[in-house]
Amino acid sequence: MAEDGMSSPFSDSPVFRFAPSPNGHLHLGHALSAMLNHDMAKAAGGRFLLRMEDIDLSRCTPEFEDMIYRDLRWLGLDWEKPVRRQSQHFDLYRQALERLREMQLIYPAFMTRGEIRSRVAASEDTGSSWPRDPDGSPLYPPDDRERSEEERAGLIAAETHHAWRLDIAKAKALIGRPLSWQETGDGTLQRVDADPAIWGDVVLSRSDAPSTYHLSVVVDDALQGITHVVRGQDLFSATAIHRLLQELLRLPEPVYHHHRLILGSDGRKLSKSEGSTGITALRQDGLRPDDIRRLVGL
Ligand code: GLU
Repeated sequence: MAEDGMSSPFSDSPVFRFAPSPNGHLHLGHALSAMLNHDMAKAAGGRFLLRMEDIDLSRCTPEFEDMIYRDLRWLGLDWEKPVRRQSQHFDLYRQALERLREMQLIYPAFMTRGEIRSRVAASEDTGSSWPRDPDGSPLYPPDDRERSEEERAGLIAAETHHAWRLDIAKAKALIGRPLSWQETGDGTLQRVDADPAIWGDVVLSRSDAPSTYHLSVVVDDALQGITHVVRGQDLFSATAIHRLLQELLRLPEPVYHHHRLILGSDGRKLSKSEGSTGITALRQDGLRPDDIRRLVGL
């Protein structure tokens, strides 16, 4: 706390985290993120945590996780143990989902990807454009949100495959005031307006995974006392969803710092399958950790 009792983003003991998903090899973009978090924590006299975001059990493996530890150690990073692994905390995310259910803010969503595509195509055939989220995906159609409780119960009783989505309009109305977040990505502390409605009704739980990224990330950032979320610019717009969930679940608000992305030779964001920029491959090519620092511009 600052002396005037107001919380300041750089007061107390700051807590930073690097939160990779062990579903592929770390590349230069991850190295930048991890080293930046580590450097910022050190400069602020704070703590640096590592969290494995491994809720997608079909894609995350212990082998990738081990490679992440090895790459990060090689880069010279050190983190507090034990490492939090999201796959061990599904019960907590379920509890958070239950709270949103009690608040009547989630609904069962029955449309398959194909059904969404045809619904959007049918509407666009009539000349009206369908709204899209910042990643270019069509917003979820309103049909399921508008169903009666009886209809929902009937479909669930018939074992219709479904996910649980957040009713963004209802959630925004419940909060009743504009949302924003504190951002330091440009070098100074700024307030950024957050409109979660640009994402439509996001999925919070699927039949094959009780939680999704948005729900687990806010639950864990709060639980681990993260004060500073330092991550790539690709997650800038998603912060609006995170702020909404934090308000609904009464979780504290960290300061966000979205850093530049490392782009591939084609000008696109690096992917985990990009061999030539993989940290393991670069190490095997004889590069040293200092070379990686230079390559990512630190
Ligand atoms: N697990 C996410 C990723 O690997 C990062 C989440 C975050 O930093 O908020 O892209």
